[in-house]
Amino acid sequence: MPSLIVGNWKMNGLGDDVAEIAAMAGGNTGRAQLWVAPPFTLIDRAVIVSAGQIRIGGQDCHGAQAGAHTGCVSAMMLADLGAHFVIVGHSERRADCGESDADVRAKAGAAHAAGLEVILCVGETAVQRSEGQADAVVAGQLAGSLPDSAEGLIIAYEPVWAIGTGTVPTPDDVAAMHAVVRGALTARYGASGHGVRILYGGSVKPDNAAALLGAADVGGALVGGASLTAASLLAIAAAAG
Ligand code: PEP
Repeated sequence: MPSLIVGNWKMNGLGDDVAEIAAMAGGNTGRAQLWVAPPFTLIDRAVIVSAGQIRIGGQDCHGAQAGAHTGCVSAMMLADLGAHFVIVGHSERRADCGESDADVRAKAGAAHAAGLEVILCVGETAVQRSEGQADAVVAGQLAGSLPDSAEGLIIAYEPVWAIGTGTVPTPDDVAAMHAVVRGALTARYGASGHGVRILYGGSVKPDNAAALLGAADVGGALVGGASLTAASLLAIAAAAG
């Protein structure tokens, strides 16, 4: 199965920056699939310039489809803009916005109901890892946040201590955690759990992508900082083979 490389632009990007997405769409000559989640404000323009070569998604959605939630964006609104997927449960939202596993589960369910694929993020902090709690934390996040259906579901394992730090786990550590995630998926969904793709995320760069993507049961990468330019994201896609 070709790797899936997903760019998360976070709160970065103005109108002119959609040119990077156009360049990504035109420049991906390898087997890897490229998806990009720009800020909400650029989704409609990104859908146009990606010309069907790159799938565009949101970085969050609300757990309800409409209502009195000032400043929030629903999954139905994202789908209406032409988005294909949404990221839920990113550690920055869990930390900045106090999102709980139950919130994440509601968002994932709302996204599925709107026809979007879901990238559900889990991962432990440095303290949790140093205390030997990493596996239990990730398993607990999955237990509390997995939606009803494994269809259209992707998990991103993103150790919090690796995000934006330049520090990455060893490929063996990634493989070990992906095995924990796979176990939780098959326990929850049965055989369907084998079909859920698991991404690694956290300081993936062109020079470490091949090693991280080569670890067992790594189906691709969720990429933050290195996804902001076409040159960098395309180099990661090329490393993915
Ligand atoms: C992320 O925030 O999902 C991420 C992986 O960021 P970075 O690649 O910058 O560590």
